[in-house]
Amino acid sequence: MADDKEPRYDPAVIESKWQARWAADPALYAAEPVTCGKPKYYVLEMLPYPSGQLHMGHVRNYSIGDALARHMWMRGYNVLHPMGWDAFGLPAENAALKNNTPPREWTLSNIAAMKRQMSRLGLAYDWATEVTTCLPDYYRWNQWFFLRMFERGLAYRKKSKVNWCPECATVLANEQVVDGCCWRHEETKVEQRDLVQWFFRITAYAEELLADLAKLDGWPEKVRTMQRNWIGRSEGTEVDFLLAPGGVIPQPDGSLGPFVPPQGVERVRVFTTRVDTIFGATSVQLAPEHPLVKALAEHDAGLRSQVAELMEEQKKAKEAGDVGAIEKHGIPLGHFAINPYNGEQVPIWVANYILMDYGTGAIMSVPGHDARDFEFAHKYAIHIRRVIAPADPAAEETPLPFLTEDGVLINSGEYDGLSCEAAQKKLQQVAESGGFGKATVTYRLKDWGVSRQRYWGTPIPMVYCEAHCQGDTPIPVPDEQLPVLLPEKIEITQQGGSPLSRVPEFLNTTCPKCGGPARRETDTMDTFVDSSWYFYRYTDAKNSSAPFSSEVVRYWFPIDQYIGGVEHAILHLIYSRFWTKVMRDLGLIANDEPVEHLFTQGMVIRNGAKMSKSKGNVVSPDEMVARFGADSARAYALFAAPPDRDLDWQEDGVAGVSRFLARVWRIVTKHAATARSAAADHMASTGDESALKGHGFSRADDRRKIVGASAPEGSSSQDAQKLLRKLHRTIAKITQDFEGRWHFNTCIAAIMELVNEIQAADAQLSSGDVPAPVVRELLRTLVLLLAPFAPYLVAELWEELGETGSVLRAPWPVSDPGLARKDELEIPVQINGKLVSVVTVAADADSKTIEAVALTVEKVQARIAGKTVLKVIVVPGKLVNLVVK
Ligand SMILES: [Zn+2]
Ligand SMILES: [Zn+2]
Repeated sequence: MADDKEPRYDPAVIESKWQARWAADPALYAAEPVTCGKPKYYVLEMLPYPSGQLHMGHVRNYSIGDALARHMWMRGYNVLHPMGWDAFGLPAENAALKNNTPPREWTLSNIAAMKRQMSRLGLAYDWATEVTTCLPDYYRWNQWFFLRMFERGLAYRKKSKVNWCPECATVLANEQVVDGCCWRHEETKVEQRDLVQWFFRITAYAEELLADLAKLDGWPEKVRTMQRNWIGRSEGTEVDFLLAPGGVIPQPDGSLGPFVPPQGVERVRVFTTRVDTIFGATSVQLAPEHPLVKALAEHDAGLRSQVAELMEEQKKAKEAGDVGAIEKHGIPLGHFAINPYNGEQVPIWVANYILMDYGTGAIMSVPGHDARDFEFAHKYAIHIRRVIAPADPAAEETPLPFLTEDGVLINSGEYDGLSCEAAQKKLQQVAESGGFGKATVTYRLKDWGVSRQRYWGTPIPMVYCEAHCQGDTPIPVPDEQLPVLLPEKIEITQQGGSPLSRVPEFLNTTCPKCGGPARRETDTMDTFVDSSWYFYRYTDAKNSSAPFSSEVVRYWFPIDQYIGGVEHAILHLIYSRFWTKVMRDLGLIANDEPVEHLFTQGMVIRNGAKMSKSKGNVVSPDEMVARFGADSARAYALFAAPPDRDLDWQEDGVAGVSRFLARVWRIVTKHAATARSAAADHMASTGDESALKGHGFSRADDRRKIVGASAPEGSSSQDAQKLLRKLHRTIAKITQDFEGRWHFNTCIAAIMELVNEIQAADAQLSSGDVPAPVVRELLRTLVLLLAPFAPYLVAELWEELGETGSVLRAPWPVSDPGLARKDELEIPVQINGKLVSVVTVAADADSKTIEAVALTVEKVQARIAGKTVLKVIVVPGKLVNLVVK
């Protein structure tokens, strides 16, 4: 029966007490100056969008980062652990439309609300470095970078087909199209439209972005693979097929007349990764948007409508997100192209599965050795020719299509007999010396379209001067006129393009070149611009003369540990790598890559599904904190699953963690007086105050003196020794986990086991059978080990133990290897390399002892009976192997 008078663990009381103290001490989590002389550690969680509400995914992400930050502080590092807000974006405009609240007001009040939640959770952020991307002191540097990129040709404008989300009423980057739908509107099909857009030339860095993936061995392999595929490098050859003379096409007056190729399309340039198969090319296939198709269809209404159909099919396949799965259709154009290697004329087709933006928008079709070409040729009865045979002449004939790069050429004139690889090199050389082609590399990665027809984003710092300065040529806004401010008063309709084009005060400006009237660019930047470099700004967030100090960045970068969801594997994590390389080339930074170690945590799910309002399975962090306390919610988020796996949220589990923390609280408060008296005695006898700041004992010797090196069975010293062993094994395990795989779930489980053992010895702790200095070490270390996971409870108990100052400044406990070592080991016994048995020996047993034990095993004796033991190999602590004959 619970005694009402007995004090109880009350997280609400403890947490509000410490929250107030921490709020009054902003230096607590502040990074020290770069001159402090300590090693640095930059730990970062991805910054959230300020929706107004943290969700459990955030709590998990931040609990992981926070545990790491706290641990590194205790390890003596200068830790930078900042937080900010990815504050531009569409939801603010949607909210403005719905609630008639200006986006800025809505965003800033959401930020305030989420900041309160974060502080309630006790997250250790250095708020002096806070970055809010929608404020001019930040976005002016987006504009500044934009101008630097424009100067270097890395920002440019072009008319292009764009992904258009009718719901967002704006352009989306390729990366924002998911299975043919908008990444924000999973139900909305993305359309293709023609618009003049701003782009960043990320393709200029394609090769380096790909090559440097090899350096990122601190990143999950799956993320590197996703980036490699996204960049999509393929090596191949461009070959020019001349148009064969002859052929008639409809003329402007409708009559038939000779086809005269317009300038630029006298030849069809194809891209192929398999030039070794070019003697098997039996047609050339063009994308529906290919300029030659356009020329042929110019006065041919019939062809135009057929091509339009192909285009429509392709568009639909794109919208469905899988052009590869398209049902292939094509039309022969009635013209021929000449294979430059053998002079053969092959028919030219236009087909719905050829993409204008891959390679050159034209391919040679080799049905004998390509599955897709085979399917097409089969359907339209196009000639199929075998040009590759198995490398082994004795091999049986293979069915077509024969897909191999490990064969030899046949039916390929003078190149017969060459291996595929040798033929590729040879044929590239021939093309280059003949002037009809070259080796080339093509990428799937496209330039980054950054124009958005929205209000709530960074204005692009360009103006257009109609009267004097060539009309449509963009003129950069001079640096000293930055920032180009977003107007505050705005009417959001989400119709008819950018809202900025309807604000005369914004739109109308003066030309920086001629002083005449000019209009501003009304596109704003993709919000992925904001998140591409925000983590540099954290290091010097108040700088008003530069985006950051290069010197400060040199100290803090690269980021030691970045933590976020795997959904950012390609978008944010490629853009920010690109941005880093651009900043390096601008001479601002020295690092090539922004992030040394990346960790992608699993999702938080409930009842087997991702938490979402529509499924009604959302758990609110506020509710969890109100019911169980922040420490329980945080510790549970770490305890319930390894951090890289999905976590299925169970309320019983949170309650269980809360009961565990209550147990810790009871044990420590119950014996705190003993620990305090041990500290006082120690100081009185030695006058050594510094020793008290350490691990409870100044030297391992002292510990052994008290506990006794070889305590007799059943003695009090033996109890103490057992507890200390458990304690030091726990220290070793948790320390190792922080350095390695972050299995915080097993860390907390190990602390639970330790607490069980301490609790089981409760009577001995009370009676003095366990000496007071040991009690002190046990409790003090237990609190230190919990510090990364349950900061409120730990602060309270730290004070209870008579300690002063923040626990974050106390050194992380170091395990005594003598105590941490296991008492006994299991050692496999082999005979002639085969496992026969396993023996249990003392951990410190020497070779002779292990050998003797191994030879007494019945199974071993049976196997060696009547044989000669030639040799016994003992690897202490590892194995025994008998060599017998
Ligand atoms: Zn959308
Ligand atoms: Zn002008």
